[in-house]
Amino acid sequence: MENLGYYNGNIGAIEDINIPMLDRGVYFGDGIYEVVITVNHKIFALNDHIERLYKSAEMLKIIIPYTKEELKDILYDLVKKVDADEQLVYFQVTRGTAQRSHKYNKDIKGNLYITITPFNDIGNYKKRVKLITVPDTRAFHCNIKTLNLLPNVMASQKASECGCEEAIFHRGNIVTEASYSNVYIIKNGVLKTHPTNRLILAGITRKNILNICNSNNMNIEEIPFTIKDMMEADEVMLSSTTKFIVAAKEINGVPVGGRAPAVIKLLQYEYMNKILNETMD
Ligand code: PMP
Repeated sequence: MENLGYYNGNIGAIEDINIPMLDRGVYFGDGIYEVVITVNHKIFALNDHIERLYKSAEMLKIIIPYTKEELKDILYDLVKKVDADEQLVYFQVTRGTAQRSHKYNKDIKGNLYITITPFNDIGNYKKRVKLITVPDTRAFHCNIKTLNLLPNVMASQKASECGCEEAIFHRGNIVTEASYSNVYIIKNGVLKTHPTNRLILAGITRKNILNICNSNNMNIEEIPFTIKDMMEADEVMLSSTTKFIVAAKEINGVPVGGRAPAVIKLLQYEYMNKILNETMD
């Protein structure tokens, strides 16, 4: 298959699979999700993504009607059906199907839907990107990987209309994360990134980057930093599952970073090696 859609066991081309109007994901965005990539038809970092999905579910009291092992088996099976070796796999669980009401029956069973498409972006991470900053108007649930992404969508669209790759959120002076990625600065050999609390998503790529730093004896500070710190940093960097690790060249039209390219290259190289090692045939 060229692409694949899945909804509670129904499988077909994405264009042919419909979601019922009464799925709470449709009218409330009442659901959670993960995205993973495959290389050689092997899923990268699946265990971490599964753990985060079940954590998100627990925080929102969504019932995932499968064990972790069952869900992994469904995913392993589906990625085999899609022709492309490198794929983008979104898996989402909504709270379930019910007449529209804010309140929900706490025993309602979640709906699973999955999309798989070819992934053509491996390698794009080597290009430096332009960014903008936007006030972080999101609520205090940024640690939950919810389908409710409207402020992220608005920020991302604004970045795109400014000819930029990403929008960096800030609360007051403090940089939190970006619309679909975590944000880092490197200053005097120290990598700084916002601590994982309810203001940011605990990125799986972030976790991998911190592990790589540790094994290379790089200093890490999980500490809030300001917009000024960022503008004056040696490097500004983003990370996410789908864009990997990218460095910035400009924020709000002002040149940034570019003073520690060897550190960026090392992190990108080690991260790509990790992906390749884990997905080798
Ligand atoms: N923050 C936000 C808001 C995101 O949407 C994402 C992408 N899922 C990330 C950070 C990066 O997380 P990960 O490395 O797990 O993709």
